Amino acid sequence: MAVNVGVIGVGMIGQDHVRRLTTVLSGSAVVAVTDVSTERAQSVADSVPGARVHATGQDLIHDNAVDAVVVASWGPTHEDYVLACIAAGKPVFCEKPLATTQEACLRIVDAEAAHGRRLVQVGFMRRYDPAYCALKAVVDSGAIGTPLLVHSVHRNPSVPAHYTGDMLINDTAVHDIDLVRWLLRDEVVAASVLTPRRNSRGGALPDPLLMILEMAGGALVDVELSVNIAYGYDIRGEVVGETGTAALAEGNPVVVKREGAFSGRVPGDWRERFLRAYDIEFQEWLGAAAQGGATGPSAWDGYAATAVTDAGLAALRTGTRTAVPLRERPALYASPS
Ligand code: NAP
Repeated sequence: MAVNVGVIGVGMIGQDHVRRLTTVLSGSAVVAVTDVSTERAQSVADSVPGARVHATGQDLIHDNAVDAVVVASWGPTHEDYVLACIAAGKPVFCEKPLATTQEACLRIVDAEAAHGRRLVQVGFMRRYDPAYCALKAVVDSGAIGTPLLVHSVHRNPSVPAHYTGDMLINDTAVHDIDLVRWLLRDEVVAASVLTPRRNSRGGALPDPLLMILEMAGGALVDVELSVNIAYGYDIRGEVVGETGTAALAEGNPVVVKREGAFSGRVPGDWRERFLRAYDIEFQEWLGAAAQGGATGPSAWDGYAATAVTDAGLAALRTGTRTAVPLRERPALYASPS
């Protein structure tokens, strides 16, 4: 039976998720949408047969026709919607960030732990990317020995005008942070941030940044964040183990050789690079939501990522290594997701 989904926030990614749920994946119907712009919500609903528009996210969550909710509105609105979904007992897919403060994330963790069953999945789609899954399979197999170092590279060709310096860490690096926690099954205990010479294309942005993450088990992670690098959206990752290394390969299906040179395509943006990951992420979410629950990146993962980005922002401001204090992990999140 199809999962009847309501979508809160139909801006850029909300509309993409509506497209995914209605035209790409099986097992779902979008039955309701809402947005602060009623006009925008109505125009999206007009393209989805049977979808109705609600005036507010709370109305949508309490609609009996809605089985499960996607929250794709602005970050500071996430907490209220996710808490309302938990109170209503409805599975919820929340785009990152789970919430914009650690305190808000912990209110969600506490509410879900009190509910006693997972309902929340956070939108860390890299965990579903086939290349990253293959990298994790090598690490998990023990083929390269115990991981000692991870090199992660996150390069954007450009960023929109509203993009701020903090967003290099809490909007961009947050994906690398969740990724290494998942890849190494370990928590980040401290963050440092180094600022090299600025890219003149980035104006006042502290771009690029080099972030160093210390993992509880002793591995070190370096993350390069470059958000105005012009040539394309380039995501790289390599794990250095005791006896070998494993790295993401170049993703090209085709290499062109002509005039004494060879070339392939660099993705233009994150939508192109992670298209498949978003589809797999949502198909899995629908599978769990059909059973009334959630799997994948959890509210705990959302909290831990925010705790690390907060430490990263403090490290950027002070220029010093900053510890990441994490609360004790509730039993609900005992096994790594
Ligand atoms: P966006 O284009 O600005 O879309 C957000 C939409 O939500 C807008 O239509 C906005 O209306 C609406 N909205 C704001 N407050 C609302 C509220 N209280 N109730 C209902 N609707 C509300 O932003 P976006 O790029 O799609 O990002 C949305 C979320 O997805 C963010 O949390 C972002 O971090 C996340 N995201 C994740 C990824 C990923 O890789 N996983 C990628 C992109 C975005 P107004 O424009 O009128 O304010």
